[in-house]
Amino acid sequence: MNARQKAVVAVSVLAAGLAAILIFKKRYMILDKAKLLINGRTIKKIIIHCSATKPTQACTVELIDQWHRARGFKCIGYHYVIYADGTVHEGRPLAEVGAHTEGYNSESVGICYVGGLDATGKAADTRTDAQKKALRQLVSELLATYPEATVYGHREFANKACPCFDVQAEKWR
Ligand SMILES: [Zn+2]
Repeated sequence: MNARQKAVVAVSVLAAGLAAILIFKKRYMILDKAKLLINGRTIKKIIIHCSATKPTQACTVELIDQWHRARGFKCIGYHYVIYADGTVHEGRPLAEVGAHTEGYNSESVGICYVGGLDATGKAADTRTDAQKKALRQLVSELLATYPEATVYGHREFANKACPCFDVQAEKWR
């Protein structure tokens, strides 16, 4: 091998290693610990929402971001969005106050799962097993970081169906 070939091999090995680390992080660690440093913002509530979309309706972080900007928010109001496949996506940075539960944004984290309406448009707990699992893991990681926080559903603070399931009926700790 000449020096050029060695350099190519070295770069490939490095890239493969980096990719493996990124895949591992995406798969096994929902929360990036560095992003949990929130500049003095106190987290007392973890508030769960649904996107109020039907199973056939597309809904992504990018779409919710567009919807919320159209409503005059600076960007997506939720801190996390959980897709039907159980993947967790970051929305507004945790260090920033969200826009998801009127009157309770400054001391809370807002999590939204995609769904909440059945095929006919009626409020329903449409969470997939993957979403339930991801939600439990995300909430448990947040509770480990903010032990004084309590988990709520949006409807406990507003006259809404959101998140279309009884948050208090589930065990979060
Ligand atoms: Zn909500």
